Amino acid sequence: MNDSVQPLLSIQDLNTWFFSRKGTAKAVNGVTFDLEAGQVLGVVGESGCGKSVTAQSVMQLVPDPPGRIVNGKILFHGRDLVPMSREEMRHIRGNKIAMIFQEPMTSLNPVYTIGNQISEMFTLHRGYGKKQAMDAAAEMLARVQIPSPHKRVHDYPHQLSGGMRQRAMIAMALSCNPEILIADEPTTALDVTVQAQILDLMLSLKDEYNTAIQMITHDLGVIAEMADKVVVMYAGRVVEAASTGALFKSPLHPYTNGLMSSIPVLGQRTRGEAGELAEIKGMIPSLFDLPPGCKFVNRCPHAMEICEKEEPELESVEPGHKVRCWLHQEKGEIAP
Ligand code: SF4
Repeated sequence: MNDSVQPLLSIQDLNTWFFSRKGTAKAVNGVTFDLEAGQVLGVVGESGCGKSVTAQSVMQLVPDPPGRIVNGKILFHGRDLVPMSREEMRHIRGNKIAMIFQEPMTSLNPVYTIGNQISEMFTLHRGYGKKQAMDAAAEMLARVQIPSPHKRVHDYPHQLSGGMRQRAMIAMALSCNPEILIADEPTTALDVTVQAQILDLMLSLKDEYNTAIQMITHDLGVIAEMADKVVVMYAGRVVEAASTGALFKSPLHPYTNGLMSSIPVLGQRTRGEAGELAEIKGMIPSLFDLPPGCKFVNRCPHAMEICEKEEPELESVEPGHKVRCWLHQEKGEIAP
């Protein structure tokens, strides 16, 4: 296939399951979506919906055992990452596809200076000498707006504030100019002002480097700020996928609607009828024991008889807008 028509990253029918004595947890259950070069794709859902396990699958970071990709493809420039050896993946991870986490200490080692850790990326993946790599590390710190970068390279992670550590982690992730940056709740632990600064920083770095970003979050506010396209996940499934504009203008899945009404509105503390912040009632079903029909059936205000028995497919309702719900499919309309 020609590079100009194939997406940068194409996840196709991905199934990542966890095996334990309790049974099989289908954490990612037939997930399909694409990420284009230079695009920001938001992956949204509550915790346990499979968004982080999807990212770990792309990075080959799923702990095995108990987890395993049991089916599906992860095509990067058309090449499947799933069967790749550890050695091949080591070249891609950090270099072509990088990941940042909610907790910077997941990536940063407390016993090495920031400079040592960032410069290692340049020695490892670019073959730089020690001095050249340290200068490049300081330059990266300057790019993420850390003041006095040549001094800061000698700091240990604990000497930086939470926001600075997050910037240092972004600097490390972007040091090899990756084509894809996967950001897993990167600002959740930060206060609102720092959160806005980090999101701005990521967007400007994306423009500078043309990096595609897969932004994983439970926060639709972050999606509205950042994303071009959105995938909504629930219980290991994609339940809705659309451009950000279309999703906010006309959310179709009852779960997406529930997420929308949980967003606090400025100057109005709550949106719920009882004067409380609206939230989706009920719990995500156990991944060990998923219902046979729609996975959202126990929480859905519009559930019909067919929803309990049969699961709808993810279908296009208009170009670029897909939803997995009987309300938007012919069979659902004629159902009793
Ligand atoms: Fe609700 Fe049925 Fe749609 Fe599921 S398929 S979201 S239960 S209406």
